[in-house]
Amino acid sequence: MAFKSIRGTKDILPPETARWHYVESVVREVFHRFNYKEIRTPIFEQTALFARSIGELTDIVGKEMYTFTDRSDDSITLRPEGTASVIRAYIQNNLGEAQPLVKVYYIGPMFRQERPQAGRLRQFHQFGAEAIGSLQPEVDAEIIAMTIQIYKELSLAKYALKISSVGCEKCRPHFKEILQNELRKIAAKLSPDSQRRIEENPMRVLDSKDENDATLTAKMPVITDHLCAECARHFESLKKYLTSFHIPYTVDGRLVRGLDYYTKTAFELTSAELGSQDALAGGGRYDLLTQELGGKATPGVGFAAGIERLMMVLEKKGFEPAADIRPALFIASADAESRAWSVATTIDLRSEGIAVEADFLARSLKAQMREADRQQAKFVLVVGQRELGSGRAILKNMKTGEQNEIPLDEIRKQLS
Ligand code: AMP
Repeated sequence: MAFKSIRGTKDILPPETARWHYVESVVREVFHRFNYKEIRTPIFEQTALFARSIGELTDIVGKEMYTFTDRSDDSITLRPEGTASVIRAYIQNNLGEAQPLVKVYYIGPMFRQERPQAGRLRQFHQFGAEAIGSLQPEVDAEIIAMTIQIYKELSLAKYALKISSVGCEKCRPHFKEILQNELRKIAAKLSPDSQRRIEENPMRVLDSKDENDATLTAKMPVITDHLCAECARHFESLKKYLTSFHIPYTVDGRLVRGLDYYTKTAFELTSAELGSQDALAGGGRYDLLTQELGGKATPGVGFAAGIERLMMVLEKKGFEPAADIRPALFIASADAESRAWSVATTIDLRSEGIAVEADFLARSLKAQMREADRQQAKFVLVVGQRELGSGRAILKNMKTGEQNEIPLDEIRKQLS
């Protein structure tokens, strides 16, 4: 029996990888421009790190994590998201000591055992960033502006930004009570999931995907009307910044993210070009997380974006980047002796930094010319006994069709 990849995972094959390289290079370039530096954390961590940060009662921790016991009987989990690991690394490596505001980004795979469907995988990829150390709303605004800048530079124009404030430890408990009281009145009519959430996590009831739940809770109080003075001021300031950046947004007081660590700002970017899984990116502020994970109380804000979702939109738009890997030169050879020369020459030229390909299948010259075409080589050099003897050969420009006889020891000069 042939092996198959695991359900919910996907091979990313050439030429699709060229699109990934392109997207990753744009993402990196924007991050660098905003002065975010790359951080690479391990793909697995202690299970407790995620349980403690994301929250025991969330879907991610409750039913989606890839958790296993290793040979030392330690409970290990493949990271379902990036923030917890980054904060763990921030604390462990005292990153805040050298710098009051630490700005880092990551790009890599995440793992969640969700039901696979279009735009929902079990191994998927995210890019994301964290700014750790500032309470100021300008950092929230910068994170949102940076997220949007990335989509702009990838020519994605159709997205919607929703923002909210989910309050803090001062105002949220009070709001939860108000909401719980209202929800208890209609509990019997709600879906079983929502009934359970009334006591566990009432704000998530407002986020229910059940249509009946949505209708029943449409007029429920929202947290943005019940913020404490500090959270309200922070939220007003964020909105002012976004307006001054010319970034359109809507306030959605029902926006609840699937992770418990958020305080104050929460935001989500959706694309109408995606199906039911329409979230491109999400993020927010997490002022209590560092302390919760055993570090010194340090505020932070960040976001994460799904790369596969972004690829789906780019594909829909018919976006095809130029092949990022193509030989500058293909050396076609007529016989065994010239093939040996061409292989040795490719090794030389490659060591000098030139991308070169030759024939490794002992094919006919015609087949080699076809291959050079398929590889989108810029030039082809044809060598045989005569060329090796005279030290001169034809160099063909594949784009213009122009052919020139050149001395073999001038290949480098001709290519540059
Ligand atoms: P989250 O960490 O849940 O806030 O997700 C951030 C972004 O990651 C989402 O907006 C999606 O674009 C993407 N994402 C989350 N879960 C998945 C998944 N299972 N498959 C593909 N993309 C995902």
